[in-house]
This record gives sequence, C-alpha cells and structure tokens, in this order.
Amino acid sequence: MRILIFTLFITQIVFSQQTYLHCGKILDSKNGLMLSEKTIIISGNKINSIEDGYIASRKKDDQIIDLRNMTVLPGLIDMHVHIESETSPDNYLKPFTLNDADVAFNAADIANRTLLAGFTTVRDLGGSGVNVALRNAIAKGKVPGPRIFTAEKAIATTGGHADPTNGRKKELMGDPGPAEGVINSPDDARKAVRQRYKNGADCIKITATGGVLSVSKNGENPQFTQEELNEIIKTAKEYGMTVAAHAHGIEGMKRAIIAGVLTIEHGSLMDLETAQLMKQYGTYLVPTLSAGRYVAEKAKIPGYYPEIIIPKIEAIDAQLKKTFAMVSQQGVNIAFGTDAGVFPHGENAKEFRYMVESGWSPMFALQSATITNAKLLGMENELGQLKAGFIADIVAVEDNPIENIQTMETVVFVMKEGKIYKQ
Ligand SMILES: [Zn+2]
Repeated sequence: MRILIFTLFITQIVFSQQTYLHCGKILDSKNGLMLSEKTIIISGNKINSIEDGYIASRKKDDQIIDLRNMTVLPGLIDMHVHIESETSPDNYLKPFTLNDADVAFNAADIANRTLLAGFTTVRDLGGSGVNVALRNAIAKGKVPGPRIFTAEKAIATTGGHADPTNGRKKELMGDPGPAEGVINSPDDARKAVRQRYKNGADCIKITATGGVLSVSKNGENPQFTQEELNEIIKTAKEYGMTVAAHAHGIEGMKRAIIAGVLTIEHGSLMDLETAQLMKQYGTYLVPTLSAGRYVAEKAKIPGYYPEIIIPKIEAIDAQLKKTFAMVSQQGVNIAFGTDAGVFPHGENAKEFRYMVESGWSPMFALQSATITNAKLLGMENELGQLKAGFIADIVAVEDNPIENIQTMETVVFVMKEGKIYKQ
C-alpha cells in the first residue's frame, strides 16, 4: 500500500511538471503568419496551451526556456530521405562489404544527425529493412532520431532503378523477385506490396522511371506498365498505405499520376501538360532540389560516380531550373523533401534556400515542411502546427526565416515529444 501511494506521488510530480517556452517569434503554419511574444506550455509529450506574452510559471519544478531572441517553429518534416545510407565514393561497394549490423549503427548515427538538424519526422523512401528496425527502436526511445514512416524496400522492375543487383556480374545478379521488391507483372505487383506490408512498411515507394544514380544507361524511361502501377496503388490502398513514385521522365510520371500515387519524387523533366495533370489529380511534387545540386557538384570529381551515370546527371541538371520555375508558376501542390542520403544527412534544411531560389516564398517553403507534410502523412491533427493538443515537436532558429531563409540551416533548439535533444 505504502509503495502504491509513493508511486502515485512520484507519477504526480512527473506529470505535473511543465515546460514553458518563451518564444520571441513563432510560426503559425496554418495561417502563414509569423507571430511575436508567445509562451508555449508543454505537459508530457503534448502542447498544453499557447499564451500571449511571456508567462511565468507558478510551480518551482517547472522548466522555463528562454527563446525570446529566436524564431520557434513546429518540428520539421522531410518527405524523402534514405535513413540507412549516405553518399560516398565507395557507395557501390557497400552491399558487398557491410553487414546489416554495420548498416544499423550507421543508420543510428544518421538518425541522430537528422533530429539535431531540426527534422523531427521523416518519410524514408527505401533501404534494406534496417529502416523498419530503426523506426521501431526510435519509437521505443532506445535511440534518438526522428519519427520515421518507412517504405522499407522500394519496388522496381527487372533492371530498373532500385533493382538491387544492377551493374553486377552475372553470377551475382541472380533474379530478384517480388519478395526483394522487383516485379514484372500485376500479380508480382500485388505480391510485392503485400510483402512490404508484411515486412512492416508504412508506405510504398516505386521507381516509375529510370534513375540517375543506378548503374544503368537510362534515367528517364518508364519502367512499369499502366496495369502494374494500377495494381500497386490498388493493393496499397487496401492495406492503408500511400504510394510515392520516383520519376524523372514524362511518360512514367503520367502513368503514375493516373494510377493515383500520392507524390511524385524529383519530377525533373516535367512539362506543362504533366504539371496540369498533377493539378487535376491532386498529386504532390516532392522536388528534392538538394539532391540535384549535390549530385551535379560531385559529378565534376573524376571517379566519384561510375562513368555510365555521368551523362544522365548532366542532362537532368540542365533541365532542372526550367522545370521548377514552370512548376511554381503553375501552382502544383508541393511537399518538402530532400533525398537526404544522396547528400550528407543533417544538411536537409538547405532545401529551404534552394526552394526560395527556385521561386517559392519563404513562408510557402516553411509551410511545405510542416503543415503540408503533416497532412500527407495523415498526421494533420498531431503534427505540423504549434497548437494545443498537438505533439510537442518544436524547433528554434536564431533569425527570422522569412527575412533570412538560411537561418533554417542552423537549428539551435530541438524538442521531440516534449523531450529536449538540443539547446
Ligand atoms: Zn531517393
């Protein structure tokens, strides 16, 4: 009995302790406004209330954090990362040299860096399965990192982008099938989606066209038939999963949009007609400008990438600027996503600067990484806004990002689910 009372007493103390954040500026992501002088009161993992002015706490156990010289924003969300992997000149050797345990330790380090950069939630678009274990470990509080929604392994076609055995000698190519995420018919498509579900995926990633960094010639061609795509999206819907489609070329992009994918990743060679098709279907574009910039830069270093991919990088880079100017003029739905892993993790926030340089306003860029992405993840009632009842994922930067978007690249305060990771 005495132990029970004592436990109740302790629980009381823990739960009644609150954190007060005194915020100089605070982003209202819903209304696209930058407000001033507010106090966010946090209890446990939730935002309890937001008050005008700087409220003093009445209880001595409460924690007051002074962010009066900062701009406070909802935790940032990146819709396109590869949490298991990171660019390096020997990347193509890693499948032969790293065990899953090595991948897992690297991924834990990557997850920590991502969180400290202010990204409290990410959508992971393809790895080997370590991503599922990492998601679970983070959710249980065993390792620090962002909340992860993962596609587990991307679905491709034989020889297509994300066929894991591309570029290998014949003895090592084998013949991967739906279990490994490689399909060649609508039946395979169904099996591959169900296998991802079984393996613990939250969403589905497909490679609707060739890719730049796969060891193959074509970065633009369509890689699924319409029937295969229709079956993937239909099956995913039945299992409550949305579909993200990697796409550079127009034909593959169109087929994926018509089949009903939620997002088009990259969209590098999009034309006016495809942009209008996206508007018609309500499809979102995830521009991943950071990936394009980084890859074009590294391609100048001899030997960084295999020779076969260099012409693909040059062709797509030349087109990118025109595409995004057109897309922002057309008012296509835009989500925030970077393709982190193709460039070093933790540099995700550079995407804000690149978006602004491509013609989007700073407020639009901030909204894309908060309220828009929360909605696409089905978390619009819990994430993406600083609001009473929402999960306490909160970050702060030193300057006002509306005037200086680059300040997003130096996040100085990170809270996830009420717990402070950086201050
Ligand atoms: Zn990617």
